[in-house]
Amino acid sequence: MEENNDDENIDYCVPPSEVRSDGTVITSEGYVIDLLNCEHMSPDGELCMPVMVYRNDIRCEKDCPQCSATIADEKQIFLMDNGENCYPCADCNSWVWWEEDELWMYWLE
Ligand SMILES: [Zn+2]
Repeated sequence: MEENNDDENIDYCVPPSEVRSDGTVITSEGYVIDLLNCEHMSPDGELCMPVMVYRNDIRCEKDCPQCSATIADEKQIFLMDNGENCYPCADCNSWVWWEEDELWMYWLE
């Protein structure tokens, strides 16, 4: 399926189903990779670093923008330094990127 590169591009080749709920993956060699410390390739080919992760909240319950599957409460959503959100969706088996309009923030007041 995926190409096996020997360089550092492993982070965005990780199958979403292998991302654990704490935002790490275990490689086939047994290394634990914290995706928060990895660069991620956006669909535009831009290398992004996560600035934070957050979890789906009951007040702003989100669905996957691509397949509409509910994002599980324990799953982490990455906020990237280009302002986009990224979520490894196991349902559609892809890293889904989207821009947040942040409307939900107004609901919290
Ligand atoms: Zn999905």
